[in-house]
This record gives sequence, C-alpha cells and structure tokens, in this order.
Amino acid sequence: MMINLYLYLWLVAIGIATIVIIMATVLRYSKVRGILGEQTVKGILEKLPQNKYLVLNDILIRNSSGTHQIDHIVLSNYGIFVIETKNYMGIIRGSEQNENWLQFIKGKKYYFYNPIRQNYDHVKTLSELLKIEEKYFIPVVCLSNNCEFKVNTKKIVVQMDYLEKEILNHTDITNDFNLYELAGKILINNLTDKKAKEDHAKEIMKRKANDKELADNMICPKCGSNLTEREGKYGKFIGCENYPKCHYTKVIH
Ligand SMILES: [Zn+2]
Repeated sequence: MMINLYLYLWLVAIGIATIVIIMATVLRYSKVRGILGEQTVKGILEKLPQNKYLVLNDILIRNSSGTHQIDHIVLSNYGIFVIETKNYMGIIRGSEQNENWLQFIKGKKYYFYNPIRQNYDHVKTLSELLKIEEKYFIPVVCLSNNCEFKVNTKKIVVQMDYLEKEILNHTDITNDFNLYELAGKILINNLTDKKAKEDHAKEIMKRKANDKELADNMICPKCGSNLTEREGKYGKFIGCENYPKCHYTKVIH
C-alpha cells in the first residue's frame, strides 16, 4: 500500500514537471507569447465600462497597400484607441524615428520593427476606412509587464498593467461619432476567413524574404540606398547610408 502511494506521488511529480517543461518551451516561441499577450490585453479591455467603450480585437483589413492586422481597437468619444501589443521580455530600446527597435535578452540582441511605425500604419488604414481624420485616433503601444523599456517618444508606450489607467486618463470628449456605426464598418471589412489570415501571413513572409534578400546584398530595403557597417552605442550594426533620412538598421549575426 505504502509503495503504491510513493509511486503515485512520483507520477504526480513527474506529471507536473512535464507540464512545466512543456509550458516553458511553448512560452519561448514568440508567436505563442504574442497570442498570450493579445489575450491578456483583451481581458484588460473587456473591463472598461461597456456603455462608453466599444472593444474590437484581432481585426484584419485589406486595402490598396495590402492587409493590415490590428490587435485591438477601442472606440470611444474620448478618441479611437489603436493598440499594438508586443509581449516581449528583456530590455527594450528604441525611439519614434527608428526603423527597428532592439530587444536585449540573455546577452543577445534582436531587432524588431518599430511598433510605433507599425501602429501608425494601422491608424492610416482605419482613418481611410472610416473616413475620419487621423487626429481622432490615439495610437498606443502596449508592452509586456516583464520587460524593462526605454523608448524615446512622446507617443503612448505603456506596460499592460498601466493600459486601463492610460485609456481612462483621456477624459476630454473629442468626437460625437456613432460608435456602433464605426464598429459595424470595421466588422464588415474584417477578414475572418482562414484563407485571408493565411494570405496575410504569406504576404508578411514574402515582404520579409524580399527585405532580407536586399539587405543580404547590402541594399536598403526601405529606400534602396547602400547599407554600411556602423558602430553604435550597443555595438556594431548595419545601417543605411541615407541616414538620418532613412533609419533602416539590421543586426550583425
Ligand atoms: Zn535606407
């Protein structure tokens, strides 16, 4: 009887250890982290007073410049919040002008596309779709609570814990849009089918592959100028000859 109990406890312990290892492995994949981040933010936004805020999550819009995936839109008479979530750990460095931002983690550095720029593209897409001037939009970049960030910008960059407070801080009524009408327009144009989502993923992959090929040949994918090796605050990197007009940067592996 005693042996059975020990065996049982061992099996439970092994089971828990296996689950922990699987979770830890899964969490290392940025795609999963991305989805988890978006789920967390979705939960935060759901707590906003529903009579004042209309929340739309994971919207995919196609226009003449391609498809655009918008993490979260919060429609309100205080402004239209457009939220881009980056659930990255480690140290995040960047500025509004940079083409890419830096992530330092476990002694390594990675570049990722400047989310302020990414979000500006989303604002433009929505402004066009809804026929509303850009001034009514409030772009917000939302970062993980598990990162340390230093971003040089006057735009709103907050960690998830401060997102709700940030939204509620906007108390001036800036518009009298019919929020349901706007939500309707967005949802009618939202591509929900699997094929559209796959096409969007392929489009991004293609753009990335094309950019990579150009950059590998030392040609700037942004402006077509030559790329050169530079020495920065955080070590050597590849930059565009056209700097400061062009802020394209690439990590040296
Ligand atoms: Zn360039």
